[in-house]
Amino acid sequence: MTRTAIVSALAEEQFGLLELLQQPQKVSHAGRDFWQGQLHGQAVVLALSRIGKVAAATTATALIERFKVSRMVFTGVAGGMADGVHVGDVVVATEFLQHDLDASPIFPRYEVPLYGQARFRCDEALTALLFEASQAGLTGLARGPRGAWSDAAVHRGLIASGDRFVSGATESRALRLALQDGGHAVLAVEMEGAAVAQVCFDYGVPFAAVRTISDRADDQAHVDFPVFVKDVASRYAQAIVHRWLKSL
Ligand code: SAH
Repeated sequence: MTRTAIVSALAEEQFGLLELLQQPQKVSHAGRDFWQGQLHGQAVVLALSRIGKVAAATTATALIERFKVSRMVFTGVAGGMADGVHVGDVVVATEFLQHDLDASPIFPRYEVPLYGQARFRCDEALTALLFEASQAGLTGLARGPRGAWSDAAVHRGLIASGDRFVSGATESRALRLALQDGGHAVLAVEMEGAAVAQVCFDYGVPFAAVRTISDRADDQAHVDFPVFVKDVASRYAQAIVHRWLKSL
Protein backbone atom coordinates (compact mmCIF):
# COMPACT_ATOMS: atom_id res chain seq x y z
CA MET A 1 0.00 0.00 0.00
CA THR A 2 1.30 3.47 -0.88
CA ARG A 3 1.13 5.69 2.15
CA THR A 4 1.69 9.43 1.86
CA ALA A 5 3.00 11.60 4.68
CA ILE A 6 1.61 15.13 4.85
CA VAL A 7 3.78 17.23 7.14
CA SER A 8 3.05 20.72 8.46
CA ALA A 9 5.09 22.82 10.89
CA LEU A 10 2.24 24.39 12.82
CA ALA A 11 -1.12 23.17 14.10
CA GLU A 12 -2.90 25.98 12.26
CA GLU A 13 -1.47 24.70 8.99
CA GLN A 14 -2.63 21.16 9.69
CA PHE A 15 -6.10 21.97 10.92
CA GLY A 16 -7.86 22.04 7.54
CA LEU A 17 -6.48 18.61 6.66
CA LEU A 18 -7.29 17.01 9.98
CA GLU A 19 -10.88 18.19 9.59
CA LEU A 20 -11.27 16.13 6.42
CA LEU A 21 -9.38 13.00 7.55
CA GLN A 22 -11.50 9.84 7.36
CA GLN A 23 -11.15 6.92 9.81
CA PRO A 24 -8.70 9.04 11.83
CA GLN A 25 -6.44 7.12 14.15
CA LYS A 26 -4.00 8.89 16.43
CA VAL A 27 -0.65 7.30 17.22
CA SER A 28 1.73 8.98 19.68
CA HIS A 29 5.37 8.35 18.96
CA ALA A 30 8.61 10.22 19.73
CA GLY A 31 6.66 12.83 21.68
CA ARG A 32 4.49 13.63 18.67
CA ASP A 33 0.98 12.82 17.49
CA PHE A 34 0.66 11.18 14.09
CA TRP A 35 -2.77 10.90 12.45
CA GLN A 36 -3.33 7.96 10.17
CA GLY A 37 -6.38 7.77 7.92
CA GLN A 38 -7.77 8.32 4.45
CA LEU A 39 -7.86 11.57 2.57
CA HIS A 40 -9.44 11.71 -0.89
CA GLY A 41 -9.07 7.97 -1.27
CA GLN A 42 -5.38 7.90 -0.31
CA ALA A 43 -3.81 6.35 2.76
CA VAL A 44 -2.10 9.21 4.59
CA VAL A 45 -0.29 10.07 7.81
CA LEU A 46 -0.62 13.67 8.98
CA ALA A 47 2.20 14.95 11.14
CA LEU A 48 3.36 18.15 12.76
CA SER A 49 7.08 18.61 12.24
CA ARG A 50 7.28 21.26 14.95
CA ILE A 51 9.52 24.21 14.30
CA GLY A 52 13.16 24.07 13.21
CA LYS A 53 15.44 21.71 11.34
CA VAL A 54 16.15 19.12 14.02
CA ALA A 55 12.49 18.73 14.97
CA ALA A 56 11.60 18.37 11.31
CA ALA A 57 14.31 15.76 10.75
CA THR A 58 13.07 13.68 13.69
CA THR A 59 9.54 13.82 12.35
CA ALA A 60 10.56 12.84 8.82
CA THR A 61 12.66 9.94 10.12
CA ALA A 62 9.80 8.66 12.29
CA LEU A 63 7.42 8.85 9.32
CA ILE A 64 9.75 6.70 7.24
CA GLU A 65 10.98 4.23 9.87
CA ARG A 66 7.83 3.74 11.92
CA PHE A 67 4.98 4.61 9.54
CA LYS A 68 6.64 3.28 6.38
CA VAL A 69 5.50 6.18 4.22
CA SER A 70 6.58 5.95 0.60
CA ARG A 71 6.34 9.64 -0.27
CA MET A 72 6.22 12.88 1.64
CA VAL A 73 4.82 16.34 1.10
CA PHE A 74 5.37 19.39 3.29
CA THR A 75 2.79 22.16 3.43
CA GLY A 76 3.50 25.31 5.37
CA VAL A 77 4.19 29.00 5.31
CA ALA A 78 7.38 30.93 4.56
CA GLY A 79 8.83 34.41 4.28
CA GLY A 80 9.12 35.81 0.75
CA MET A 81 12.71 36.71 -0.24
CA ALA A 82 12.91 37.31 -3.99
CA ASP A 83 11.34 40.41 -5.52
CA GLY A 84 7.84 39.64 -6.70
CA VAL A 85 7.18 36.92 -4.10
CA HIS A 86 4.31 38.53 -2.18
CA VAL A 87 2.24 37.65 0.88
CA GLY A 88 -0.50 35.29 -0.30
CA ASP A 89 1.60 33.84 -3.16
CA VAL A 90 2.59 30.19 -3.19
CA VAL A 91 6.09 28.79 -3.70
CA VAL A 92 6.51 25.18 -4.81
CA ALA A 93 10.04 24.03 -3.96
CA THR A 94 12.25 22.50 -6.62
CA GLU A 95 15.29 22.43 -4.27
CA PHE A 96 16.26 23.25 -0.69
CA LEU A 97 19.40 24.44 1.04
CA GLN A 98 20.35 25.29 4.64
CA HIS A 99 21.22 28.98 4.78
CA ASP A 100 22.78 28.62 8.26
CA LEU A 101 25.12 25.77 7.40
CA ASP A 102 28.69 27.00 7.13
CA ALA A 103 31.67 24.65 7.49
CA SER A 104 33.95 26.94 5.48
CA PRO A 105 36.83 27.06 4.82
CA ILE A 106 36.93 23.27 5.09
CA PHE A 107 33.88 22.92 2.85
CA PRO A 108 32.32 25.54 0.59
CA ARG A 109 29.79 27.71 2.41
CA TYR A 110 26.30 26.09 2.51
CA GLU A 111 27.63 22.68 1.42
CA VAL A 112 26.43 19.84 3.65
CA PRO A 113 29.69 18.18 4.75
CA LEU A 114 30.32 14.75 3.21
CA TYR A 115 27.38 15.02 0.83
CA GLY A 116 29.29 17.15 -1.68
CA GLN A 117 26.26 19.33 -2.28
CA ALA A 118 24.46 22.30 -0.79
CA ARG A 119 21.13 21.77 -2.47
CA PHE A 120 18.75 18.82 -2.21
CA ARG A 121 16.33 18.34 -5.10
CA CYS A 122 12.64 17.61 -4.69
CA ASP A 123 11.05 14.77 -6.63
CA GLU A 124 10.31 16.04 -10.14
CA ALA A 125 7.05 14.21 -10.80
CA LEU A 126 5.49 14.96 -7.39
CA THR A 127 6.63 18.58 -7.67
CA ALA A 128 5.08 19.02 -11.13
CA LEU A 129 1.75 17.72 -9.79
CA LEU A 130 2.06 19.96 -6.74
CA PHE A 131 2.63 22.98 -8.97
CA GLU A 132 -0.52 22.18 -10.96
CA ALA A 133 -2.48 21.54 -7.77
CA SER A 134 -1.30 24.88 -6.35
CA GLN A 135 -2.43 26.78 -9.43
CA ALA A 136 -5.80 25.05 -9.40
CA GLY A 137 -6.09 25.49 -5.62
CA LEU A 138 -5.49 29.23 -5.87
CA THR A 139 -8.03 29.55 -8.65
CA GLY A 140 -10.50 27.69 -6.44
CA LEU A 141 -9.81 30.01 -3.49
CA ALA A 142 -10.13 33.11 -5.66
CA ARG A 143 -13.57 31.95 -6.79
CA GLY A 144 -14.56 31.19 -3.19
CA PRO A 145 -16.76 33.31 -0.96
CA ARG A 146 -14.04 35.81 -0.07
CA GLY A 147 -12.21 35.84 -3.37
CA ALA A 148 -9.26 37.44 -1.63
CA TRP A 149 -6.50 35.71 -3.57
CA SER A 150 -7.40 36.56 -7.15
CA ASP A 151 -4.00 38.09 -7.90
CA ALA A 152 -1.85 35.58 -6.01
CA ALA A 153 0.89 33.88 -8.03
CA VAL A 154 2.45 30.43 -7.87
CA HIS A 155 6.26 30.37 -8.11
CA ARG A 156 8.65 27.46 -8.45
CA GLY A 157 12.27 27.38 -7.28
CA LEU A 158 14.83 27.22 -4.48
CA ILE A 159 13.80 27.61 -0.82
CA ALA A 160 16.27 28.23 2.02
CA SER A 161 15.82 26.80 5.52
CA GLY A 162 17.52 27.73 8.78
CA ASP A 163 16.97 27.83 12.51
CA ARG A 164 15.94 31.46 12.55
CA PHE A 165 12.72 33.40 12.00
CA VAL A 166 13.94 36.06 9.58
CA SER A 167 12.19 39.27 10.53
CA GLY A 168 14.11 42.32 9.45
CA ALA A 169 14.56 43.98 6.07
CA THR A 170 18.31 44.44 6.63
CA GLU A 171 18.83 40.86 7.72
CA SER A 172 16.73 39.51 4.89
CA ARG A 173 18.65 41.54 2.30
CA ALA A 174 22.01 40.43 3.72
CA LEU A 175 20.92 36.80 3.69
CA ARG A 176 19.72 37.05 0.14
CA LEU A 177 22.93 38.70 -1.06
CA ALA A 178 25.15 36.16 0.72
CA LEU A 179 23.20 33.33 -0.90
CA GLN A 180 23.38 35.05 -4.27
CA ASP A 181 27.19 35.31 -3.90
CA GLY A 182 27.23 31.56 -3.44
CA GLY A 183 25.19 31.15 -6.62
CA HIS A 184 21.89 30.47 -4.87
CA ALA A 185 18.88 32.56 -5.91
CA VAL A 186 16.26 31.85 -3.25
CA LEU A 187 12.57 32.58 -3.49
CA ALA A 188 11.62 32.09 0.16
CA VAL A 189 12.92 31.31 3.64
CA GLU A 190 11.54 28.97 6.30
CA MET A 191 12.77 26.67 9.06
CA GLU A 192 12.21 22.99 8.18
CA GLY A 193 12.17 22.07 4.49
CA ALA A 194 15.88 21.46 3.88
CA ALA A 195 16.04 19.09 6.86
CA VAL A 196 13.15 17.00 5.55
CA ALA A 197 14.65 17.06 2.05
CA GLN A 198 17.96 15.69 3.41
CA VAL A 199 16.27 12.89 5.38
CA CYS A 200 14.22 11.94 2.32
CA PHE A 201 17.41 11.96 0.23
CA ASP A 202 19.09 9.60 2.72
CA TYR A 203 16.18 7.14 2.56
CA GLY A 204 15.37 7.57 -1.15
CA VAL A 205 11.84 8.73 -0.35
CA PRO A 206 10.29 11.11 -2.95
CA PHE A 207 9.62 14.51 -1.43
CA ALA A 208 7.75 17.64 -2.50
CA ALA A 209 6.97 20.86 -0.66
CA VAL A 210 4.71 23.86 -0.97
CA ARG A 211 4.87 27.05 1.09
CA THR A 212 2.42 29.90 1.18
CA ILE A 213 4.01 33.28 1.75
CA SER A 214 2.89 34.57 5.15
CA ASP A 215 5.27 37.53 5.39
CA ARG A 216 8.18 39.17 3.57
CA ALA A 217 10.84 38.30 6.21
CA ASP A 218 11.07 42.06 6.84
CA ASP A 219 10.40 44.43 9.75
CA GLN A 220 6.67 43.63 9.48
CA ALA A 221 7.15 39.84 9.47
CA HIS A 222 6.34 39.25 13.14
CA VAL A 223 3.01 41.07 12.63
CA ASP A 224 2.07 39.59 9.24
CA PHE A 225 2.99 36.00 10.13
CA PRO A 226 0.50 35.25 12.97
CA VAL A 227 -2.39 36.94 11.17
CA PHE A 228 -1.79 34.96 8.03
CA VAL A 229 -1.28 31.66 9.83
CA LYS A 230 -4.48 32.07 11.80
CA ASP A 231 -6.71 33.27 8.98
CA VAL A 232 -5.60 31.62 5.77
CA ALA A 233 -2.78 29.05 6.00
CA SER A 234 -5.15 26.20 6.76
CA ARG A 235 -7.40 26.90 3.79
CA TYR A 236 -4.48 27.06 1.41
CA ALA A 237 -3.16 23.70 2.61
CA GLN A 238 -6.60 22.15 2.31
CA ALA A 239 -7.19 23.49 -1.21
CA ILE A 240 -3.77 22.47 -2.55
CA VAL A 241 -3.36 19.08 -0.86
CA HIS A 242 -6.88 18.05 -1.84
CA ARG A 243 -6.09 18.56 -5.53
CA TRP A 244 -2.60 17.08 -5.27
CA LEU A 245 -3.85 13.84 -3.67
CA LYS A 246 -6.53 13.48 -6.33
CA SER A 247 -3.92 13.85 -9.07
CA LEU A 248 -1.55 11.15 -7.73
N1 SAH B 1 5.92 32.47 16.98
C1 SAH B 1 5.57 31.34 16.20
C2 SAH B 1 6.83 30.75 15.67
C3 SAH B 1 6.74 30.59 14.25
S1 SAH B 1 8.25 30.28 13.49
C4 SAH B 1 4.78 30.38 17.01
O1 SAH B 1 4.69 30.58 18.20
O2 SAH B 1 4.20 29.43 16.49
C5 SAH B 1 7.75 30.48 11.84
C6 SAH B 1 7.23 29.27 11.13
O3 SAH B 1 6.77 29.66 9.85
C7 SAH B 1 8.30 28.23 10.88
O4 SAH B 1 7.72 26.95 10.89
C8 SAH B 1 8.85 28.61 9.49
O5 SAH B 1 9.04 27.48 8.69
C9 SAH B 1 7.79 29.50 8.86
N2 SAH B 1 8.16 30.88 8.51
C10 SAH B 1 7.27 31.81 8.10
N3 SAH B 1 7.87 33.00 7.89
C11 SAH B 1 9.19 32.85 8.16
C12 SAH B 1 10.32 33.73 8.16
N4 SAH B 1 10.20 35.01 7.85
N5 SAH B 1 11.52 33.23 8.54
C13 SAH B 1 11.65 31.93 8.90
N6 SAH B 1 10.61 31.05 8.93
C14 SAH B 1 9.38 31.48 8.57
